[in-house]
Amino acid sequence: MRTIIEPFRIKAIEPIRMTSRDEREKLIQEAAYNVFLLPARDVLIDLLTDSGTGAMSAAQWAGIMRGDESYAGSDSYYRFENAVKDIFGFSHVIPTHQGRAAERILFSTVCSTGQTVPSNSHFDTTRANIAYVGAEPVDLPCVESRVLADPHPFKGDMNLEALQHLLEQCEPGKVPLVMLTITNNSGGGQPVSMANIRATSKICRKHKVPLYIDACRFAENAYFIKQRERGYEDVALIDIAREMFSCADGCTMSAKKDGMANIGGFLASNDEQLTREERNLLILTEGFPTYGGLAGRDLEAIAVGLYEALELDYQHYRIISTEYLGQHIAAAGVPIVQPPGGHAIYIDAASFCPQIAPLEYPGITLTVELYREAGVRAVEIGSVMFGSVDTESGQEQPAPNELVRLAIPRRVYTQSHIDYVVEAIVNVFERRDALKGYRIIEQPALLRHFSAHFAPL
Ligand SMILES: *Cc1c(COP(=O)(O)O)cnc(C)c1O
Repeated sequence: MRTIIEPFRIKAIEPIRMTSRDEREKLIQEAAYNVFLLPARDVLIDLLTDSGTGAMSAAQWAGIMRGDESYAGSDSYYRFENAVKDIFGFSHVIPTHQGRAAERILFSTVCSTGQTVPSNSHFDTTRANIAYVGAEPVDLPCVESRVLADPHPFKGDMNLEALQHLLEQCEPGKVPLVMLTITNNSGGGQPVSMANIRATSKICRKHKVPLYIDACRFAENAYFIKQRERGYEDVALIDIAREMFSCADGCTMSAKKDGMANIGGFLASNDEQLTREERNLLILTEGFPTYGGLAGRDLEAIAVGLYEALELDYQHYRIISTEYLGQHIAAAGVPIVQPPGGHAIYIDAASFCPQIAPLEYPGITLTVELYREAGVRAVEIGSVMFGSVDTESGQEQPAPNELVRLAIPRRVYTQSHIDYVVEAIVNVFERRDALKGYRIIEQPALLRHFSAHFAPL
C-alpha cells in the first residue's frame, strides 16, 4: 500500500474551537500581535511547539493509574530507570522535571567561569544554562547547514574540523565537555549521522573530553539514520539508539519530546563520582533521587513512552507526516528549510515576503497572518527571538535567518488537520505581496519573544 495512515485509532477526543475571521482579528489585536499572548482556546491548530504537547497512548494512561507515589524507591522509579538504562545504556540515571533542569544540574556541576562548551548547535535553554555559570557556549554546525535550501541528508552534523581545531588550540581544562544535539533543533530539526556521532566521539576521546548527547529527539534521529545512512536499513531503531549512546559519556533528555510524555526529563552518565555530586544538587532543588521533581505517574508515562517513540510504524508516520506538510507547501512555491526536519517545518520568512526588512520582523507578519487566515499558531524564530542589541552603538542587529517554525505535536493531528494548515499557508502565500512588517512597542529585557507587544507598520 502506498497510502500512509496514522498507526493508531482515536480513543478519547478533545474538541477544538472554530472562530470567525472577525473574532480572530480582534483576538490577535488584543494579544498585541504576539501569538504567545493568545489564550490556547482561541487557537484551532496549535503548532507553537512539539514539547509536552503530544497525545499519550492507552498504555501510558494505564501507567498513570499504576503510578506509585512513594516518596523513596517507588516501583515507578525502577520501571523508569530500567527503561532508560535499557535504551540509553548509561549506568546512572537522575530524573528531573524537564530537560533544562538536567542541563542546570549538569552545568552547575561540571562547568565554571571562563570555560567553553562546544556543540553542533546548542538549544536555547542549554546555551542559557552554560552562560549562567559563566562559561561560553559555542556552535560548530557543519558547513552544509548554512544553505537553507540545500537538501543534504545530515545537516545536523557537527563540524569535525572546527571541533578538532578548537580542542587542539585551547589549554587543558578549558572544555569541560562537548555536547551533540540530536536532532539538531536550532538547525531546523536536522539529524546527525552515526558516522558523525562516532567521529565526534573519537575526537573527544583523543582529547579526553567527555561527550554528552542532548537526546531530546533521539528516536527521530535514529529513524533518519535508518532511512538515510548506508548499513542501517535493517537495524531496529532501538539498536541504532543504543549504538548512538554507546559513543557518548552521558546525556540530557527532555521527555516532553521523544519521551512521549507531557512533562519530565533526565540526566544520565557512567560517572559515579559526578552523579553523587549531581544528586546533592538534585535534592536541593528538584527532589529525592527516585522522583526528581516528578510524580510517580509521570515516571511511568516516560518508561512506556520511550519505547513507543522507537516503534517503527510510529516513526514512519511521524517523519512522513512532517515531510508531507513540507512537500505540499514547497510544491506551491513556499520557501522552506530543506530537507524537512523531524519535528517541524521551517518557513523562510525572509524569502516569503522579501519586501519586509529583517528588523520589520517578517516572521511576526507570517505568524499573525496564519492566525488571521485560519487560527493556526506558529512561532517566529528570527530577529525577535535571536536578534541582539550592539552594546556600543545601541543598534539592533538582526538574526542570521528569519524563520517561522511549524512544530508538529506527537500523535495529535490527523492528515486532514495538516491539509487545512497547507491551505492556510498557501492562501497567505498568494497574497504575500500585500504583507507589511511590524514594530515593537513594548518589550522586556530578556527573552522578549514571549511577551513583546507589536504594532503593524
Ligand atoms: C526542549 C529542548 C530542551 C529543553 O527541554 P525542556 O524540557 O523544555 O526543559 C533541550 N534541548 C533541546 C534540543 C530541546 O528541544
